[in-house]
Amino acid sequence: MPSSHGYAAHDAHSALIPHQFSRREPGRTEITLEVLFCGVCHSDLHMARNEWGNALYPMVPGHEIVGRVIAAGSGVSKFKTGDIAAVGVIIDSCRHCAPCNRGEEHFCVEGATLTYAMPDRVDGSITMGGYANNYVVDERYAHTVPTHLDLAAVAPLLCAGITTWSPLRHWGAGPGKKVGIVGLGGLGHMGLKFSHSLGAHTVQFTTSERKREDALRLGADDVVLSSDDAQMKAQTSSFDFILDCVSAPHQLDDYLPLLKQDGTLCLVGLPPEPPSFAPFNLIGGRKSVSGSMIGGMPETQEMLDYCGEHNIVADVEVIPIQKINEAFERLLKQDVKYRFTIDMSSLK
Ligand SMILES: [Zn+2]
Ligand SMILES: [Zn+2]
Repeated sequence: MPSSHGYAAHDAHSALIPHQFSRREPGRTEITLEVLFCGVCHSDLHMARNEWGNALYPMVPGHEIVGRVIAAGSGVSKFKTGDIAAVGVIIDSCRHCAPCNRGEEHFCVEGATLTYAMPDRVDGSITMGGYANNYVVDERYAHTVPTHLDLAAVAPLLCAGITTWSPLRHWGAGPGKKVGIVGLGGLGHMGLKFSHSLGAHTVQFTTSERKREDALRLGADDVVLSSDDAQMKAQTSSFDFILDCVSAPHQLDDYLPLLKQDGTLCLVGLPPEPPSFAPFNLIGGRKSVSGSMIGGMPETQEMLDYCGEHNIVADVEVIPIQKINEAFERLLKQDVKYRFTIDMSSLK
């Protein structure tokens, strides 16, 4: 059995500390990765502190994993030892329902298995995430990685990247479309890069004037200060699509009037309180409020391939694992541009 070590939360209130555990040998279609980098997603913090009520301890978080294949089962065809592979938010699903057959494993009718803190479908153990030296996964749920990219900055693509890529593609962001990105954080900065790269006229909404320069550098055609009524009003009825990446409480009614007829506002952030809006802001213009989460396996691979072709990665601050608790505190203060990535060689 590959012996594993990483950093784990043992309850909702304590810091993450070093933790030893074991993973199974890779099965016929499974690979073992030596984890090289793991992104720090805001959900890691929510999960470690049991803010969604579904924590299982001890918990090794981490679902933005880039690693090197160090072992492969006899039936593995996509990878060989030494290859770079990536793993995101889900690592298994029923593999036979309609969404799974369509490659939308994240919508699996029986429920997908998450990368950490979920019972594993194969052996019943609790899944342990990527804040660790290794990971075992079926090749169906692992992705090939364009290796010319900075691998530390690839890691956040596996959650922040696909979470923004999928809705932008689904709602057709591209030339001739006007797209708004609300919030410039881990998710927002990826949405901005993708929307710009796909050719949409892209407007960044922010509450902070000091983010203007960064938004322009990351690809915004325009930046709108959402607290400025005149700036907001000037955007009325002009957007095909608005991607709302904000996880703090905010007013959807500020944004719905900015959509064109039949436009969509899509939520990918998770505010703690349910958002509300005035139905009048929807019916006049047949507008939609929608939501989206991560993406299926083919779509995730498509995103990684696109990032390889267009040299897109996340903006990251690389940290050693020993700084993970400090990074969680800084995440709460939005004190990161725009994603922490753990260099897992620091575990040794
Ligand atoms: Zn995530
Ligand atoms: Zn399924």
